[in-house]
Amino acid sequence: MKRVCYRRFHGFAVAGGTCSTAEGIHIFIATMLRQLLLLTLSVAVFASVSPFPGPGAKCPSTNQTIIWNYNASSDAGPSHWGDLCPEWIACKTGQRQTPIDIPLSFIITHPTANLNLKTSYTTLQEQMFFNDGHTVQVNINQTSFITVTEAASKYQFLQFHFHSPSEHTIDSNHYPLEVHLVHKSADGSFAVLGYLVKQDTYTEGFLQTLSKKIHEIPQYGNSTLISSLNLTDLFNQHDNYVHYNGSFTTPPCTESVKWFVHTRVLSATREDLNTLITAMANTNRPTQGLYNRTLVQYGLYTPEAVDIKTSGRPTATTSEAVAIRVAAVMIVFLASLML
Ligand SMILES: [Zn+2]
Repeated sequence: MKRVCYRRFHGFAVAGGTCSTAEGIHIFIATMLRQLLLLTLSVAVFASVSPFPGPGAKCPSTNQTIIWNYNASSDAGPSHWGDLCPEWIACKTGQRQTPIDIPLSFIITHPTANLNLKTSYTTLQEQMFFNDGHTVQVNINQTSFITVTEAASKYQFLQFHFHSPSEHTIDSNHYPLEVHLVHKSADGSFAVLGYLVKQDTYTEGFLQTLSKKIHEIPQYGNSTLISSLNLTDLFNQHDNYVHYNGSFTTPPCTESVKWFVHTRVLSATREDLNTLITAMANTNRPTQGLYNRTLVQYGLYTPEAVDIKTSGRPTATTSEAVAIRVAAVMIVFLASLML
């Protein structure tokens, strides 16, 4: 019996010509096995050379890559991170975890204001911007650092990345976006600067640069180069920030991270926020217990300095909100005519 035969074409099984059933099946299965082998090899090679951590993280004791996510109803979601790997137990039992809610009434103002944190950033050139499977990140390969004078420690600037909505909350209010600038000292401890981002009429320069490039990295493993990035304006001597001791907000939730959450909220337009958020929606770990930690405010802080009006997702503009209300009224009016 003759029938349509699958033949190889550049390694793929394509239908064409005629051959016996046995011959056709043999060629088809052989081609499929070859493709499967090639696919497996490609994945293995990519995994071994990829510089990105990806949606999984290595569990040291089992030497397995554990996939974790932000889905509250998943077995790999935040409430289960501490069960997925013995070394991730801090995610479950730690009492110095991040993020936290920052209740304005709990903050203690430090008498020496903002003397304990200094940044020494240079204008960055040719930095890698990539999608790590959870969020988008910029790795810093030039010398920039911060100094925490109280601890007499210098922390090298390693990378910055985003979360949406914000991980920290102010009086339980989320912001559309949060930036984390991660620094590491010679003794292996970390300091992270956190910035909340609100919807506004303009976009900070570095966020504008990234929003123009983010379409190039829609999926895990995608990367692109940012030719020039200026973060030197991000921090200034008049900034206020809340300091506390916390952790990584992703597995293994390692503690002993010095956090500095700035109360000067950054700005981005609704369009730029939406562009950035598309690549990292729902990448916020829920807030953790404060336990007996103190929140110390540095700078000339007043509660009014914190803009907590904008929360959650970018909102419609005033004209759009009016249009939506008019449309709703029209629908109700038309429905009443039909009844
Ligand atoms: Zn982060």
